[in-house]
Parts: sequence; C-alpha cells; structure tokens
Amino acid sequence: MNKMTIRDLDVQGKKVLMRVDFNVPVKDGVVGDDTRITAALPSINHVLENGGSLILMSHCGRPKGKKNPEFTLKPAADRLAELVDAKVTLAPDVIGAEVKELVDELKAGEILVLENVRFYKEEEGKDCTPEEQNAFAKELASFGDVYVSDAFGTAHRAHASMAVVTKYIDQCSAGFLLEKEIEYLGKVLEAPEKPFVAIIGGAKISGKIDVVTKLMDTCDAILIGGGMAYTFFRAQGKSIGDSIVEDDKVELAGEILKQAREKGVKLVLPVDNIATDEFSAEANIKVVEGHFEDGWMGLDIGPKTIELFCAEVADAKTVVWNGPMGCFEMEPFAKGTYSICEAVANSNSVSIIGGGDSVAAVKQSGMADKMSHVSTGGGASLEFMEGKQLPGIVALTDR
Ligand code: AMP
Repeated sequence: MNKMTIRDLDVQGKKVLMRVDFNVPVKDGVVGDDTRITAALPSINHVLENGGSLILMSHCGRPKGKKNPEFTLKPAADRLAELVDAKVTLAPDVIGAEVKELVDELKAGEILVLENVRFYKEEEGKDCTPEEQNAFAKELASFGDVYVSDAFGTAHRAHASMAVVTKYIDQCSAGFLLEKEIEYLGKVLEAPEKPFVAIIGGAKISGKIDVVTKLMDTCDAILIGGGMAYTFFRAQGKSIGDSIVEDDKVELAGEILKQAREKGVKLVLPVDNIATDEFSAEANIKVVEGHFEDGWMGLDIGPKTIELFCAEVADAKTVVWNGPMGCFEMEPFAKGTYSICEAVANSNSVSIIGGGDSVAAVKQSGMADKMSHVSTGGGASLEFMEGKQLPGIVALTDR
C-alpha cells in the first residue's frame, strides 16, 4: 500500500484524531452488534499504548445534518468504555468552544468521543457551500496533531471527516482495519490466486453491474444467485412468473451474458430454484427448473444449483462473495445462502465476504472466523472491487 499507515506515525504525546465507523445498531440506548466497535480496537489500543490520546469521530444513522438525540453516539461511547482500559468521555457536540476545551484537557491514554458528525450538514456536504464544509473540517482538524482513518464502511464517501479534514493535517494515515481491507480487496484486484470465483447475489442487479463487469477481467467463474438471477433469466427469454425482476436492466443483463461468452468467463446462473406462490414462509413450495408458471416466484437457488455452485467454490483459491442466494431471512429460503457459507468456509481459498446481508448470513451461521476476511464495508467494498478510487483512501498521505 502506498499510503501512510498508523505504524508510520509517532503518536507519543500527540492528539490523534481518528475517524471510526461506530454506526452500530442501537435499541433502548444499548448497542446490539458491537462488531464495528471491536473492529476499531486494534488502532485505538495502539494509540493508547504508545502514549497518545484519542479524539474519535463517527456517524451513526441518518440524522440528516440536524442534532437529534435519537442518533447520539452515547451508546457507542458507553460500549467502548467497557472494552478499553481508558477514560472515555462523550463530547456534548461535534465542534465548538466546549468541545475544544475538552480536547485541550485530554491527557495521554484518554479518549474523547465527539458527537455524531452527521449532526452537521457540512459532514455530508449537502445543502451547504464548499466553504462551509471546509470550515467544519478545519475545526475538526484543529483537534488533532495527526489523523487516522479506520472507517472503511464510509471510505467511498467524500465526507468532511473522511476526505476534507485531511487537507488540514499533515500526517493522515490508515488504521489497522482500513489497511486490512485495502490489503485483502487490493489483492483480489491485482493478483488473485486462481481459480478465482465470485459469488454475486441479492435482490437487484443494479449497484452490482459494475462489479460483475470488472470481475470478468480477473475471475474464472462468476456465480449469480438471489433475485438478480431472474433479470438474467428474462434476458435469456425465460418466463420467470412473479419473480423479482428489473425490467430496465434486462438489456444490460443480456449484454453481460454476451460479454462473458466473448471473454470466456464462466457466468453460472441457477439451474433450479425454490419457488413459492406467495412471499411468505408458510406458502406452498416447489422446485422449478427452466420456466416459471404465472403466480410462482423464485426465492432461493435449488438443490442442483447448490451442488453446482459448491463444486465451483470447492476448487477455488480465491472467493469473493457479495449478496445472499435467496430470501435467507425466511427459513424455507435460507438453504442456498447457508450452503454457500459452508462451502466457502470449508474451501482452501482466500475468502472475502462483503455486503451487509452476506456478512449477516456468515455471522449467523457461526462461520465468520473461517473466512479470510469479512469486510466492514458493503458499498465501499463493491466500489473498491469495481476499481474505483475511494475518496477516504485517496485523501490519506502518500508514503
Ligand atoms: P441486496 O441488498 O441487493 O444485496 O439484497 C439483499 C436482499 O435480497 C435480502 O434481503 C434478500 O432477502 C433479498 N433477496 C435475495 N434473493 C431474492 C429473491 N429471489 N427474491 C426477492 N428477494 C431476494
């Protein structure tokens, strides 16, 4: 990686301004899944153990540029206090005189968590001028001597705390988590060990077209499951009954099929499906091969497809997986997704899981620790794999 990392920083006696992703689920003021907080602990502890103090910034939810106690970072700060051996204080605001005073008083080994950066419209930069966003970022920058970003999940956004604050601090580095994401995802782009198999699923093809197109350059096989498969079926002229489809993407799906043929990439679609006559876990179920009758919709890949996909995965040396194979939230349609989970976990491949739903499925299956890398960024990991430059990474200091 050609960017500065946290290891390159001398944090002794310094105030370290760190962007983390504490956008965690909260219920009744208590954090549910704290994965995102624990994921930032290596960087946080590194600073504390090396004599620095920390000013943490994060967003949480969508307060849309307004102060809203519903989206306070208090639950995240409380959880962090349980996880670290350090004094943790939550600032009453993001910027301002009161916050500045708390920053000035901060001692080595202590943590100050700023309030939700999205309490200010300047964070996302919508409905404000570039000058206003710069002023906000400059004030944030004044809190730290050096900057660390560990928020991969928002690295694809050119937000103030990620990509503008960096204009006003000399040394801006990647934290351990960001570095790990770049290392794993970068390897997939540059030198994946072959055979390289991508598994792409989820409800829709939109948002994943670019990554499918890009993966065709490096992949040996692309396995398409989930609702998006039906748009490809339509492009092949199959009747899909009431299955989910994006009519405006049918032509594009046809184009992708053609490109795959031309490039010699194996693009594998389901050969059978678990179909139902109602979008419900209690509805009638049957296996459909080929054409669907009206009134039936495909909600999971079928047994032959599971076998086919798992065989591809078993031989792979690199696997990238984004998007579930079906409506895995409903038990009768979860088998495809969990079978893939198992196959990836049992393979001898470097496995990279991205995207909220596939990550959730991997965690629920208890197999997360058998994967090489479970990405903390859904949209960010897709954009990275599309070969796009992520503003939150570009903004860091070059080595
Ligand atoms: P995405 O955000 O595009 O990755 O889509 C994830 C969602 O796709 C999950 O909530 C799944 O329930 C849903 N999904 C997967 N397969 C299907 C399908 N065959 N029909 C409808 N929804 C699906």
